[in-house]
Amino acid sequence: MIVTRFAPSPTGQLHTGHAFSAVFAARAARQLGGRFLLRLEDIDKTRCRRAFEIGILDDLDWLGLEWETPVRRQSEHFEDYQAALERLDGMALTYPCFCTRKEIAAEIAASVSAPHGPDGPIYPGTCRELDFEILADRFERGDAFALRLDMGKALAMTGPLTLEEKGERRAATPEEFGDIVLARKEMPASYHLAVTVDDAIQGVTLVTRGEDLLPAASVHRVLQALLSLPEPRYHHHRLLTGEDGRRLAKRDGVPSLADVRATGISAADFIAGLGFDPAT
Ligand code: GLU
Repeated sequence: MIVTRFAPSPTGQLHTGHAFSAVFAARAARQLGGRFLLRLEDIDKTRCRRAFEIGILDDLDWLGLEWETPVRRQSEHFEDYQAALERLDGMALTYPCFCTRKEIAAEIAASVSAPHGPDGPIYPGTCRELDFEILADRFERGDAFALRLDMGKALAMTGPLTLEEKGERRAATPEEFGDIVLARKEMPASYHLAVTVDDAIQGVTLVTRGEDLLPAASVHRVLQALLSLPEPRYHHHRLLTGEDGRRLAKRDGVPSLADVRATGISAADFIAGLGFDPAT
């Protein structure tokens, strides 16, 4: 049975791009006779607001979507992410990184050819092999640290990986991301870790989302392989663009779904305007 999901972060109002993603996932489930789930990715407590969450549910309801309850809220499942972290730690694949963002930027700026990945310059691995004494000292001082995945070691363990995107197998290229952050002091699980654990726990079999996240699927495949989680299929859909052809982004003042609704347009007309065939 196909299981899809829409996983918004309640850090703001939904805009047209989110609506496209939500409708896409719900229709994929409906057309394939499957289930559609909703997940609130509210792990970043500094940016998530309950008021946004309420607005999101109201917008999805207006779109005519129906999802199963209870809705999974990440902030209620920290123990699941902790268990995954402990498992990776037990495999000696994680290490504490004490670098501040500023220090990382300075190190990258000073290197002749800093490799770049999909998320920007790759972490240069400064803390990968810290001496035991230094580690003990920094822990003693209570210095803040992030937990990183040693990607080289992880890939040596998993071997080359593939993923299924739109029905086609392709090579996964997680090495492009380097040693990703798995958790920070103020964030018990990074996006990559939480999304991988959640999709598995919720039994998601088809991950649909915007194509900007296609590279991230490679990282999720590594975590799935390391944590012995099932492999979902992927369908990264096109991103909506504005009249200038650029992808919609909140910072450009894209109208929120609330603004769209205020114009009095019906949900059916709005969904048809997104390019979905009302007959299917
Ligand atoms: N919370 C993520 C976002 O809003 C969802 C990513 C995903 O679907 O994996 O971009």
